[in-house]
Amino acid sequence: MEIASVGNLNFDVYLRVSELPGPDENAEVLDLYTGGGGSAANFAVAAARLGLAPRFIGAVGEDPLGEISLRELREEGVDVTYVKRIAGVRSGLVVVLVHPDGVKRMLSYRGANLGLAPGDLTPEKFRGVRHIHLATGRTELILKAKEVAREVGASLSVDGGTALAKKGLDIVRPAVEGVDVLFMNQAEARLLAGSHDHRTAVEKLARELRVGELVVTLGARGAAAYGGGKLLHVDAFRVDAVDTTGAGDCFAAAYIAMHLRGRDPYEKLLFANAAAAIKVTRPGARSSPRYAEVEAFLAS
Ligand code: ADP
Repeated sequence: MEIASVGNLNFDVYLRVSELPGPDENAEVLDLYTGGGGSAANFAVAAARLGLAPRFIGAVGEDPLGEISLRELREEGVDVTYVKRIAGVRSGLVVVLVHPDGVKRMLSYRGANLGLAPGDLTPEKFRGVRHIHLATGRTELILKAKEVAREVGASLSVDGGTALAKKGLDIVRPAVEGVDVLFMNQAEARLLAGSHDHRTAVEKLARELRVGELVVTLGARGAAAYGGGKLLHVDAFRVDAVDTTGAGDCFAAAYIAMHLRGRDPYEKLLFANAAAAIKVTRPGARSSPRYAEVEAFLAS
């Protein structure tokens, strides 16, 4: 089943350091890991592993990092035909400093990702697509995606991340109106709702936002979904979490995979919660499971 994932693609560099350098100081890197990243690209990979046929729509520069990032996507079975290549700009790059205290410090260079414009989201690129997932906080892209989804008859999900939540309810409310599924994590939900407590935040957003389903991931506390007047919650599975990077993207892809199979809200939430639980037991932003692995996990 064809789906499209629209938004960021990055090359991630993880540096494990024993200390953070001060001004003009040099700190030694103990370990280095590189791999593909970017929320929309991670979603596409997770969706491919769950048996969907995703195309990724985003932008890279004409540089080696962009080539590597695209090759990784192709190897995962993601169609990159419609990725925009922009001359004179570097591809997106994220550097993550991982300190022994577990705290991550991230440096993001959005580069070519910023070159994806609403005009790039033309209906031809979405022909035959049943679902469009938009992982970006840029409202101009969300508004355009709503138009295209309507035109090609696809359902639409949005994961706007912190960038969207920061914009506040007055901007977010009209931007997401009519979206089928809106994903966010608990920090984003609290920020957008202006509430300290995630329960109050979800309840407020459920009242304020006119979306088909509002899905809030709660990290080690599981996830909640509000739709059709009902609020559902699942506790997280008890696993040994080693890396939660990309857990939200894996969760969203698994939720949409079930959505497209016409499953009921509880089944969608449970399956996505299981897929993300498997993901967090493995390092890397794209270490999401295959469909059969999730089924086996749920049956165990
Ligand atoms: P994001 O990566 O977007 O910040 P979360 O941290 O909320 O998202 O995690 C997404 C999902 O991953 C959660 O809803 C849950 O299903 C799963 N998850 C995250 N952390 C854990 C954990 N420690 N144990 C089990 N599942 C987890």
